[in-house]
Amino acid sequence: MTHRKAERLLEEWRRRLVPEWTVALDWDATPDSADARLDVVQSTDYHHATVRTCPGWLECDAPHPGDDADAEREIDLVHELLHLLLRDLEQAARQAANGLGDQAHNLARAAWKHALEGAIERMARAMVDAGPQR
Ligand SMILES: [Zn+2]
Repeated sequence: MTHRKAERLLEEWRRRLVPEWTVALDWDATPDSADARLDVVQSTDYHHATVRTCPGWLECDAPHPGDDADAEREIDLVHELLHLLLRDLEQAARQAANGLGDQAHNLARAAWKHALEGAIERMARAMVDAGPQR
């Protein structure tokens, strides 16, 4: 996949999922987590976001033999856009957890993050499977 194709896919999915947002791919910034292929940095006040890519993301193989590497990259992009779509829900969960004690807060945040990541990944895979844009 080329930079241009990734940017086109991001724009197509952005229009469908979060049309009120402006989202750019930053090819020079890298995700905070060494394990992440991509992450998204959001403006707190406006609907602006930047998707950061790990080095070699466009050239890396699919995680599992037989998977379509371009489809996996498209899933990665949709995954990050779904984080933007669900931002208000995540903020509500964060605010609710803030009323808990430290230990309960940490457990609630970890459970929420695990559930959110799993749901987002399943939705991204289903969406790309249903309508490949490649
Ligand atoms: Zn995620």
